Amino acid sequence: MHQPPIPQIDAEDPEIAGLIHDEARRQAEKFRLIPSENYVSLAVLEACGTVLTNKYSEGYAGRRYYEGQQLIDPLETIAQQRAQALFGADHANVQPYSGSPANLAVYLAFAQPGDTILAMSLSAGGHLTHGSPVSVTGKWFRPVHYGVRRETGRVDMDDVRDLALKERPKIIICGGTAIPRTIDYPAFAAIAAEAGAVLVADMAHIAGLIAGGAHPSPVGHAPVITTTTHKTLRGPRGAMILTDAEHASPIDKAVFPGLQGGPHNHTTAGIAVALHEAARPEFRTYAAQVVANAKALAAALLDRGYDLVSGGTDNHLLLVDLTNKGIAGKPAAKALDRAGIELNFNSVPFDQRRPLDPSGIRLGTPALTTRGLTEKHMPLLAAWMDEAITAASKDDEAPLDRIAAEIRDLLADFPIPGWSA
Ligand SMILES: *Cc1c(COP(=O)(O)O)cnc(C)c1O
Repeated sequence: MHQPPIPQIDAEDPEIAGLIHDEARRQAEKFRLIPSENYVSLAVLEACGTVLTNKYSEGYAGRRYYEGQQLIDPLETIAQQRAQALFGADHANVQPYSGSPANLAVYLAFAQPGDTILAMSLSAGGHLTHGSPVSVTGKWFRPVHYGVRRETGRVDMDDVRDLALKERPKIIICGGTAIPRTIDYPAFAAIAAEAGAVLVADMAHIAGLIAGGAHPSPVGHAPVITTTTHKTLRGPRGAMILTDAEHASPIDKAVFPGLQGGPHNHTTAGIAVALHEAARPEFRTYAAQVVANAKALAAALLDRGYDLVSGGTDNHLLLVDLTNKGIAGKPAAKALDRAGIELNFNSVPFDQRRPLDPSGIRLGTPALTTRGLTEKHMPLLAAWMDEAITAASKDDEAPLDRIAAEIRDLLADFPIPGWSA
């Protein structure tokens, strides 16, 4: 059953209501291991479904282009203040529609078309918006990429420094979407200072860990920090850019009017509510548990002979190279999905296979931690994963539905916000 219920959609548009109900059930019945996903609280869900969506508010508090901002101005100001307080930043812009536009705003603020930017390559764990050739950021700028060391699976800081001093990028980005290890912000800051570049920390994946004290913070090292709000931070889909005082104005101008029109006020409310939750002591417990669960899952998979990129994890995320298991990432991910374990196929560093059919899988523990699962459940999860992957490697589909049913039974004791049986 839906909480909060959706009786109007049920009555007016059963076709859409049916899909929403079924998606809620699907999210409740599966192990959701996609490391960028989570379950938001009921309070965040409620905030996103309010009359705030009716209002246009181009501009910033006190400087809007439409009348009627008596209540939106304090709403957005509270969201900014909560972000600034939670992360200890001078300034927060809470208007970016999502992580990709937030990153584009950074380019607009600090680079001209054709300028060089230095970031992690997509194949090593960077994001599309870090200058991939298929992204506008790769087409309109001149990306130079660093990767990881083959032996360690970790970023090679000497390589980053050499590239920075040789290429003299305007912007250096640290962070990514498939990085299982701690990011060394002070080391990146030293390189950026030496090269005369603006250091941008893209903490989209790990913002919740940083807020909860489970990963070092980029604040004080990177003058510009972009993040989504919907990954480990557990808010609605959206983004924020945190800056020091010096970089605040160019970022604000780049977001509006540079890139966007009116902010999504219902999302701003959801972000404010999520930031309030992230400031509570329970959130620190959650962040620590996300990491403890990831380490326990990594240990259990290593025990079963899985090849983890970098040999393990420091954060919420695991990258597994399946080459030694005789199966590629995509068929493994498909079989796991049918077995009730949802994750994504992913390239691994130095992948011999193509990006659309790569060698690895990427998984993480934020969502299962939000549901209340702990280290003691991780060996069981690893056993189910191993059984499904082994079966799939032999084209044996027989165990998959049985595993899905066993997982459904276990997860019935860990309800999700938003739906109950
Ligand atoms: C998810 C992510 C983004 C993009 O966020 P969207 O909201 O999907 O646009 C940007 N950078 C990193 C590192 C990410 O993980």
